[in-house]
Amino acid sequence: MFLYGNEEKQKNMEMIAKRIEVCEKCPLNLTRTNTVPGSGNVDSPIMFVGEGPGADEDALGEPFVGRAGQLLEKMLKEYAKLERNDVFITNIVKCRPPQNRVPTQEEVKSCQSYLDGQIIVIKPKIIVTLGNTPLYYFTGESKITQSRGRFFNWYGDIKIFPTFHPSYLLRNQSSTKGSPKWYAYLDMRIIGIMYRALKQGKDVEEVTKTVEEKIKSLENAGGSQT
Ligand code: URA
Repeated sequence: MFLYGNEEKQKNMEMIAKRIEVCEKCPLNLTRTNTVPGSGNVDSPIMFVGEGPGADEDALGEPFVGRAGQLLEKMLKEYAKLERNDVFITNIVKCRPPQNRVPTQEEVKSCQSYLDGQIIVIKPKIIVTLGNTPLYYFTGESKITQSRGRFFNWYGDIKIFPTFHPSYLLRNQSSTKGSPKWYAYLDMRIIGIMYRALKQGKDVEEVTKTVEEKIKSLENAGGSQT
């Protein structure tokens, strides 16, 4: 579940997962099958944050393993040129909201210390938010179409890079220029570029400045596919 990272990081991530496993802070504990703390590379400079587990994730205890997860994985591979285990993937809430409804603000608040703890341990340089719930959590913004492709500052020099939720892309299949899918593919290409630059030790400010120009040129050139 938690890959790479030194012993200390592994221990801390396991400790957070154990706390989540017995958590009864909000009513979501009453309906869950499994808790879903997150999985992937705890040394990744980029962390992905979705909304909350769905039915497949609740059954397996792993994030993004259903249809949305398959699309996320495919986009990572094809456009970012990354494997899912290159990055760490988690959610705002760690238990499934019934009928996949949006988590309430109370549920989000109850779960906050777990996500904060994971961010402190992993120390990502960039957090990619998937859809509106994590966008609002990290930035206070609520319009994904206006926020995607931009960087927002978070605490400790962490940058937030919002993009579309893969479930939304499953409901909006067109990938013609200017469609959500077209922008999501472009965002994924940018995520891949940033990942490799950060892995080479480049400074996050420098990386985000460079890609801001790249985003503009790709948007103008219409080139999410190339
Ligand atoms: N949607 C999410 O937001 N998270 C998951 O883990 C699965 C689907």
